[in-house]
Amino acid sequence: MGGMENSSAIFYAEGQFQREAVEEGPMPHEIAHQWFGDSVTPGDWDHLWLSEGFATYFDALFYEHLEGAEALRRRMSAAAERVKKFHATHPAAILDPALTDPHQKLNPLNYEKGAWLLHMLRKILGDETFFAGIRSYYNLYAGRNALTEDFRAVMESVSGRRLATFFHQWFEQPGWPEYRVSWRWDAAAKEVELEFTQQQTGGLFEMPLDLAFTLGQRRELRTVEVSARTATVRVALPEAPSAVEIDPGGWVLKGVAVSSP
Ligand SMILES: [Zn+2]
Repeated sequence: MGGMENSSAIFYAEGQFQREAVEEGPMPHEIAHQWFGDSVTPGDWDHLWLSEGFATYFDALFYEHLEGAEALRRRMSAAAERVKKFHATHPAAILDPALTDPHQKLNPLNYEKGAWLLHMLRKILGDETFFAGIRSYYNLYAGRNALTEDFRAVMESVSGRRLATFFHQWFEQPGWPEYRVSWRWDAAAKEVELEFTQQQTGGLFEMPLDLAFTLGQRRELRTVEVSARTATVRVALPEAPSAVEIDPGGWVLKGVAVSSP
């Protein structure tokens, strides 16, 4: 059976990759594979992230559960660095049919960028819907093969949301958004005006972005949607902020440069 061969091939190659990829010891990653990789098996090497991205993210979730949100943020930040470093010499999407050698598919796109896809989907859907979707996907495909479109269909069904754009941007498109943000305080309107530019050379990304405004000793949080190459957003605040932080929780794989007035 194809799934069986696929599974043992993934398992064999795993050991070679783990030595350099996983700092904290591979145990949670390998345990996660009992569900994702061994039970639900990618139906094709091009969908390897369904195994390795899941195991990488569930490893991070293990440490979030054990040590708290900061541990998850640290791991995702390290994962982002690996994705960006790899991208410098291999600027491909997770879906990379031109790369046919299975060993070369054991790369940060299938591991860390796959984990980031899940992390961002969790942010977009919220914890309850995201984990309900993951459980449904597992229950539906346990002992079977799945492709990315199967996972997407389950997440769409559970959330009631269309996710075609999200999966196109993060699975089929290389890179990530590189935001340049400039902002000014409009005292008459009591609004901050922010101008977002996506500077990456590739395609655009349509993402919700949390913003944290520093107002004296406190912070005000807002969430905005940024999808166009250039977007102007206005946010009403009681007073002028002294600083703006983009995505303070680290929920979007991105680059960001903020220029204040
Ligand atoms: Zn693995």
